[in-house]
Formats: sequence, structure tokens, C-alpha cells
Amino acid sequence: MIVKDIKTLSLDERKKILERNKINFENILLDVLKILKDVRERGDEAIKYYTKKFDNVDIDNFIVSNEEIEEAYNRVDYKIIDALERAKENIYYFHKKQLKQIKELRIEKEGMVLGQVIRAVEKVGCYVPGGKAFYPSTVLMTTIPAKVAGCKKIFITSPPTPEGKGNCATLVAGDIVGVDRIYKIGGVQAIGALAYGTESVEKVDLIVGPGNIYVTLAKKLVYGDVNIDLLAGPSEVLIIADDSANVNYIAIDVIAQAEHDPNAHCVVLTTSKEKAYEIKNTIEKELKNIKRKEIVEKSLKNAAILYGELNELINFANEYAPEHLEIITKDPESVLEKINNAGSIFLGEYSPVPVGDYASGTNHVLPTSGFARAASGLSVETFLKKITYQKLSREGLEELKDTIITLAEAEGLYNHAEAIRRRF
Ligand code: NAD
Repeated sequence: MIVKDIKTLSLDERKKILERNKINFENILLDVLKILKDVRERGDEAIKYYTKKFDNVDIDNFIVSNEEIEEAYNRVDYKIIDALERAKENIYYFHKKQLKQIKELRIEKEGMVLGQVIRAVEKVGCYVPGGKAFYPSTVLMTTIPAKVAGCKKIFITSPPTPEGKGNCATLVAGDIVGVDRIYKIGGVQAIGALAYGTESVEKVDLIVGPGNIYVTLAKKLVYGDVNIDLLAGPSEVLIIADDSANVNYIAIDVIAQAEHDPNAHCVVLTTSKEKAYEIKNTIEKELKNIKRKEIVEKSLKNAAILYGELNELINFANEYAPEHLEIITKDPESVLEKINNAGSIFLGEYSPVPVGDYASGTNHVLPTSGFARAASGLSVETFLKKITYQKLSREGLEELKDTIITLAEAEGLYNHAEAIRRRF
């Protein structure tokens, strides 16, 4: 973990922080292509083969049965079920409000009607990771926006447990939302199955959800056969804090982010040099007594604490474009106004990232690795298409006739021009 005056960062140091853990796909590209090709050609047989190879379990039927879901309810603590229900309510509430903001369009102008209708993607596959841990919260975050958008078929897929079952909390979360089917398939084979369809897996139109590097690369490679949401890499947080911020909160928020993954990335930007060192010392003290210490320590090797003027810090934050941005300053809204690039923003000392990870209602599937410069996180809009339409009267077409003919002929598309001429 480095602590430095932001002005004194060398170009290399700055680049290293900004580039963080860019996903390097090259060394696994051929393996992933091979699995996708095999799933495309051999369908269920290939899924069985790779499930045995990577998840070490023999499965004949990948579709979770109703009995399995009932059994899962018996095994999941009622407190978890209550928490999932509560989170579901908030996620529904926020995403329904998002839907209300998305409007159709109809313009009448000089013999023309121009418009835009909005339709939901019909079939959606939600990947819910499950290699090293299980994420029922991701079930809610991926399926609820799809439900709100009005998608007709929503499927979940997640790796099987060593017993060849679905993870109980994942199954319960899927049932609570009311998905149409749950598959016990993980990794590249799951993405291939959803993209191409197999004997037991229905082909979808859109695949969403996070996953490890294999899942992410598989999504990148099937783009075109299906649409995808975004490519989520290792998780990250950037915290902007002034001298009013509570050092203990910042320290635990950094540690909380670092526990995701040894490649998670944490940056703290503060207006005070003293605070920068206080934060470093507090994190180091906390480390003596935390769970998931090994992961946190590995991840914190790449962490940075920088101090400088508030405007410099904001510029740096915009260049970094974090997945999660915490602003813990006297007036966080005034900083928010100057932020152009971030996945999701958490304002003030009572809005730490786990609030959005689980329960406030905003989505936790967000762009990482600087992708927030160009993309948004998962939302209702991810599941909607905007279809434009037009209706011209004879007079409307006549008004545009010469413009169309000139441009069509300039491009050598003479039949396009003729399609207009013939109507007059
Ligand atoms: P995963 O479900 O993404 O991957 C597990 C699958 O990877 C296995 O089923 C297996 O098929 C495949 N696999 C493993 N080794 C392989 C190999 N050598 N070759 C080909 N395939 C292989 O689960 P995970 O590994 O635990 O990763 C989950 C990731 O998702 C973590 O990085 C986690 O931080 C992230 N995550 C992100 C969010 C978010 O919202 N951004 C939410 C939850 C989890």
C-alpha cells in the first residue's frame, strides 16, 4: 500500500494505479474458445464433460427440480429468507422507478410521424457466480431488473455444489423472484449453453451477470450470437475523503472491498496528509483481527492512499472511473456534481458500499477497470430495446425526395433512389 502526495506520483506510478488489474485474456483465449465450440457442437454431452472436469461432479439433469427448491427452503435460515425478501422489495422499488423514467417517443413534423417504442428482450440468462462462494444477492440484482422490464423468460445458471445440487440460497433467491428455470451449470459451458442452446438449455437473447475470468471471456466471445451486459473484472473502490471523514469507517470500507478477491483494488484520495497516514495505520491495525485476512492482505498490496487538493483528487477519480465511488466529505453533493465517471456513488459516512451491494435497491453489477468511462451498470434499460418507427404522407416523402435520391446515388445505391422515384 503506497501513501503519496498525488503531485509527486511518477508517470509509471500513476499508470499502474489507473490501469489496476486489467483482465488479461490472452493466455486462456484458446481454452475458452475450445469449450465454446464443443458446447456448440455436442450440446449437453459437452456440458456434462466440462462439469465433471471443472466442478468435479457428474450431473445428468442440469435443470433444478421443484423438489430441490423445496428442499433448499428447508436448509436456508429463515433470517436469510427474510433478508432476501426485504432486499427484493427495495431492488424492485428502485428499478420500477427507473422504468418510469424510460419514455416512448412520438413526433409529428411536416408530413412525417417519427417515433420510438420500447420492448423488453424476450429471453434472458442470468449468470450467478458460484465457484469459490455463492451469491444469492446477485440473483436478485440480475433477475429483478429483467422482471421489471417485462422479459418473458428469465433463466438463472450457477455452478453446482460438490454434491451436484444447486446452492440452497441461490435456489431460494431465484424462487423468491419467480424465475422460469434454474440450471446447475457454471463457467464457460454455462455461457455457451445459453448462447447457442442445447438439448436441455434454451437459447437466450441476452446474457447478464458477473463471473470469473473464464466466464467473462466466454461472454465477450459469444457477443454477437447474443447480447451481453458488460464485462465485470475484479471489484474496486475509490474513496474521496476530506479532513471531516472518520478514519475508522474508511479503513473498514477499504478492507471490505479488499476481501472480495486478491485482485480487488482500493484507492483512497484525501485532502490531508495526516489523514492519509492515519488511514494507513488504522488499516494495518485492523488487519491483525479480521476474517478473510489472506485475501485482504494480497489485495491491499496494490492499494494506494494519495493526498492533495480536492480538485486534483476529483480529476484523478474521474480518470480512474471506479466501479464504486465513496465520497465522504463535508458536502458530498458538491463533489458528486463534478464526477463524470463512476459505476455507483455512495455519499456521506452512512452510505458504505455494502448498502448498495445488498439492500438499498440500486444495482451491484457495475463496470470495472475504468469501463465506467463509457458504460453504466445493470439497470432496467439493459433489458429493453428501443425500436424506432416512421410514417410519411405523400407530401412528407415529396419534401425529402431529392435529399434521399442525391445521397443514395452518391453512395452508388441506385435502387434505393429508384424506390423513392417510383412513388412519384
Ligand atoms: P464463477 O461461477 O464465476 O466460476 C466458476 C466456474 O469457473 C466453474 O464452474 C468452472 O466451470 C469454471 N472454471 C474454473 N476453472 C476453470 C479453468 N481452468 N478453465 C475453464 N473454466 C474454469 O465463480 P468464481 O470463480 O467464484 O468467480 C466469481 C467472480 O465473480 C469473483 O471474481 C467475484 O468477485 C465476482 N463477483 C462479482 C460480482 C459483481 O457484481 N461484480 C458479484 C458477485 C461475484
